[in-house]
Amino acid sequence: MTDDASSSLLDGRALAQAVRDDVRADIQAWTDEGHRAPFLSAVLVGDNPASLAYVRGKEKDAAEVGIDTNTYHLDADTSQDALLERVHALNADDSVDGILVQLPLPDHMDEHTVIDAVAPSKDVDGFHSENLGRLLRGTPRYIPATPFGILEMLSRSEIDPEGMDAVIVGRSTIVGKPLAALLLRRTANATVTVCHSRTRDLAAHTRRADLLVAAAGQAAFIDADMVKEGAVVIDVGINRVDDPSAERGYRLVGDVDFAEVRPKAAHITPVPGGVGLMTRAMLLKNTLQAARLHAAHA
Ligand code: NAD
Repeated sequence: MTDDASSSLLDGRALAQAVRDDVRADIQAWTDEGHRAPFLSAVLVGDNPASLAYVRGKEKDAAEVGIDTNTYHLDADTSQDALLERVHALNADDSVDGILVQLPLPDHMDEHTVIDAVAPSKDVDGFHSENLGRLLRGTPRYIPATPFGILEMLSRSEIDPEGMDAVIVGRSTIVGKPLAALLLRRTANATVTVCHSRTRDLAAHTRRADLLVAAAGQAAFIDADMVKEGAVVIDVGINRVDDPSAERGYRLVGDVDFAEVRPKAAHITPVPGGVGLMTRAMLLKNTLQAARLHAAHA
């Protein structure tokens, strides 16, 4: 731990900007070689305000680094077959490098069926079963953006997980499970524990974590007692809590009680301004990779 509390902050804003600057320079070099700009197609079904905001954020980020985008906005009552038709058309379109289907989908659709309809080579979210299989095997094609962002944050902050006891709280397919697989790789060499809603005595696990990743979606439930002195704390959670003093009537908090845990942690990510921004930046990296992949197979 350091005396200067501010030096312990893993600043997602600055780190994500650095990633975007690198991607923009790489895309500039790519187009200077005579390639067209990478192209990302987003498909959004329905009017979920959070999803609309996410897709707008992704379009803005893409424009900043030189990725062209196109968003298909389908009605909430669109049939699954109609959505699959759209996905198949994008798969067949050589001008499209990356496809993302914004989740969650309406209840009448089966997410696995839709995700597995995306061509694996265009699945920049890395959620297709083939890409998840490759990740587990240790030969990833696209790394899902949130765990990818966490690894990038660690490496850009010169935090090496080798030999660390890494405890991940949350076993979802988009965060906990892929992050566990990545931290287990020989390139990371952490010893990984994955906790979940049925874990007995969660605190006993979190308290021995050198690297604690909270991805449960429970507002500020990791308190200082659950954290080891000097731990690296990565807060993935994004939770709305009522706040009448806020303009929107709510504010966003993570899964970690930031004020309590910060003095104890060697490094900690804020919410907002942490992992969420890295997630957005890593999608751009994956889209450039998709463009390279397509050019190599054209
Ligand atoms: P999810 O609901 O799919 O999974 C939550 C996991 O947490 C489950 O495995 C569950 O078993 C576990 N869990 C829930 N309550 C728990 C408890 N009290 N103790 C121990 N484990 C518990 O969620 P998700 O999609 O992985 O998202 C998790 C959180 O991360 C949400 O707040 C979400 O908004 C946020 N998120 C943030 C980003 C980002 O970029 N920052 C990306 C994805 C998700």
